[in-house]
Amino acid sequence: MSRGKLFVISAPSGAGKTSLCNKLLAKYPERLRYSISFTTREPRVGEVDGEDYFFISERKFKEMIDNEEFLEWAVVHGNYYGTSKQVIEKHLNDGYDVILDIDPQGARQIKNKFLDAVFIFIVAPSIKELKNRLINRRTESMEKINLRLKNALEEIKFFKMYDYLIINRFLNVAFEELDAIYRAEHLKTKDIDDIEKIVDLEV
Ligand code: 5GP
Repeated sequence: MSRGKLFVISAPSGAGKTSLCNKLLAKYPERLRYSISFTTREPRVGEVDGEDYFFISERKFKEMIDNEEFLEWAVVHGNYYGTSKQVIEKHLNDGYDVILDIDPQGARQIKNKFLDAVFIFIVAPSIKELKNRLINRRTESMEKINLRLKNALEEIKFFKMYDYLIINRFLNVAFEELDAIYRAEHLKTKDIDDIEKIVDLEV
């Protein structure tokens, strides 16, 4: 079995990244896994520990940093977020592709470690639209929304670090684009070692 591929997806809050990732996961349940991050952020209403995130204390997070348990970690909007090294390695070695939904600071760390990872940046068509989506989501105070918008403007500057840019104006179109990227990445010749395993060469 060949090793899976890492798909690193970043987007400012409200760009629709979670919906897009969930649609892709639902389409390829047999070959795609989502990396559940660790965070010190408070759970939002409806979020489930061990499903959306592993919600842990700052003390525990720092312990995990010291024990080198993270593949990457960063402070985002004032909270710690990190990806478990052990879980990712297991999924990849078991042949699963893995989606990492992480910020540009984390994406940069992955870029230095995984040469064949695929980097995708998702944006809303405008900052005004982003603001409306965050307000309508009703999960954050106005103060936190403003912090996220300020950070969005900073994060967008890093788009060149990514291989692909998806503008999420309409969810179905953005999803088709994400799906097209996912499928095209599996047709790359550089990932195929042995043509005989794929094409029957008998005359
Ligand atoms: P939220 O609090 O809205 O769930 O996520 C805030 C930001 O943290 C998003 O940009 C998300 O991609 C990022 N994030 C989530 N998990 C991780 C992680 O494990 N590592 C890093 N670097 N960023 C993460």
